Amino acid sequence: MSVWTRKPILPPKPKNSGSPNSALSATPFCVRPERSARLPADGTYLCGACGHELFMADSKFDSHCGWPSFTHPEEQKNVRLIDDRSLGMTRTEVRCARCDSHLGHVFDDGPGPRNTRYCINSLSLDFAPKQ
Ligand SMILES: [Zn+2]
Repeated sequence: MSVWTRKPILPPKPKNSGSPNSALSATPFCVRPERSARLPADGTYLCGACGHELFMADSKFDSHCGWPSFTHPEEQKNVRLIDDRSLGMTRTEVRCARCDSHLGHVFDDGPGPRNTRYCINSLSLDFAPKQ
């Protein structure tokens, strides 16, 4: 449906390689807070495994947790929430509703009317800029 080119998921470069304006700065990686403002402002975050639309860019916010955070999914039906009692904690795991890939966790301390904070692993996301 959208016209875009899937970018390969690359590991972050060491701090001393390349310029800060390299191609990496345009990709949706988990970045230091001061760099997150450089990410594309409009578009959709997709499941990195199957391309399912998950989060709109305008729901992304900087929670200072070091992971991309979103106030809510594009549509609630696009994600699946599962009780996660691993590591001695009780959390809610977020999975892609289409392919069941692990995306991250959701917490109830986020901004906005729903108070949700979807803390998502940047490596599980692709980004499709708005055309
Ligand atoms: Zn998926």
